[in-house]
Amino acid sequence: MHEAPLLSSHCADCGAALARALVREVRHYEETRLLEVTCGRCERRFLAIDTGDRRVDALQVEDVAAASVTLAAARSLADLFGAADFDVSDAA
Ligand SMILES: [Zn+2]
Repeated sequence: MHEAPLLSSHCADCGAALARALVREVRHYEETRLLEVTCGRCERRFLAIDTGDRRVDALQVEDVAAASVTLAAARSLADLFGAADFDVSDAA
């Protein structure tokens, strides 16, 4: 379980590697698992889905994890998109 591609990602809150996160399987259906991930540093808790299919691009799993963390932590659009990459030129 700790080899899951999800864990090569990083906590969106504190940037800690999720390889050190606490991962608990909440439930599973066939190959798909719902995981509760707790960041090892800031203890932020979020849910991630592991499809169990290693042929699928690992980014899919990471996207789910990152999205759930980001949505939970987002306080503004700048938070959502990352202040450095946020280009407002199209917004007007
Ligand atoms: Zn964290």
